[in-house]
Amino acid sequence: MSSVFDNSVHFGFQVTAVSMNATSPTFLRTYAAVSGLAGLSWTEKLWASYYTWIGNDILATGLLLFTIHEAVYFGRCLPWFIVDRIPYFNRWKIQSAKMPSNQEHWECLKSVLVSHFLMEAVPIWLLHPWVLRAGISCQLPIPPIATVAWQVAMFYVLEDTWHYWTHRAMHYGALYKMIHKKHHRYAAPFGLATEYAHPVEAMVLFFGTAGFPIIFVLLTGNLHLFTVCIWVTGRLLQGVDAHSGYEFPWSLHHFLPFWAGADHHDDHHRYFIGNYASSFRFWDYVMQTESGALAKQDRESKMKGAAEEKAKKSI
Ligand SMILES: [Zn+2]
Ligand SMILES: [Zn+2]
Repeated sequence: MSSVFDNSVHFGFQVTAVSMNATSPTFLRTYAAVSGLAGLSWTEKLWASYYTWIGNDILATGLLLFTIHEAVYFGRCLPWFIVDRIPYFNRWKIQSAKMPSNQEHWECLKSVLVSHFLMEAVPIWLLHPWVLRAGISCQLPIPPIATVAWQVAMFYVLEDTWHYWTHRAMHYGALYKMIHKKHHRYAAPFGLATEYAHPVEAMVLFFGTAGFPIIFVLLTGNLHLFTVCIWVTGRLLQGVDAHSGYEFPWSLHHFLPFWAGADHHDDHHRYFIGNYASSFRFWDYVMQTESGALAKQDRESKMKGAAEEKAKKSI
């Protein structure tokens, strides 16, 4: 199959092996050839070079998404693994008495790798035809940064809502025992434990990340694969950071009070109840499911105040 970027009708240019002056062009030669085309941004040059260089769109999209998942997930877990082994950082560890052992890391790593390579490696190669069928664009131009930003922000809100309600449901009786209990094996979470989950839970979470972009593009016809890549990267970073087990003075929620962060999700793992949302704090606040002793105390004093107010009015 030829690359979408060979098609001058769609792109207004043609980059072929001939124009790159090689039968087996390297990525750098491809990039040099694409760079000669006027009017492309740096990101567009990289995007076009990548698809042209791979020369097979199914392979290119599958490889892109698989690589993003592996590189961002393990790339973000590694610094937390190192931080766990440097005593200086222990002062910011939320549950400092529960440092994950090498054995726990190893068990978790094996389970996550099996899940990534057995469950995701095959379906991910089927993505490109579905991406095209849904109407997600892989072609140039790449949307402006403002479009990428509002669409990614919207996916964060939608995923957070989905996550809150499905996660809360998974804490009920049989659903907890059969599905979600696996993720709660670690009462003090660490980065690598983010995707340590039952396959059914992995699929539910996958829908929260991939399902809303698909619904959105089916409704609007306005979504680029580049935006999806940025969203997936952001969601992975959010998930790993929420499981890091560290609360720093510079943690994001100190600057964005509605951001959940590790402080929020660590309490969920510690108390097994409350703080069900992923990225934001508003669902748990509105539904009064905030976790921890302080939140419980606050809820009880509000309820007591409301009851006293009601009693005064009825006199
Ligand atoms: Zn849970
Ligand atoms: Zn968790």
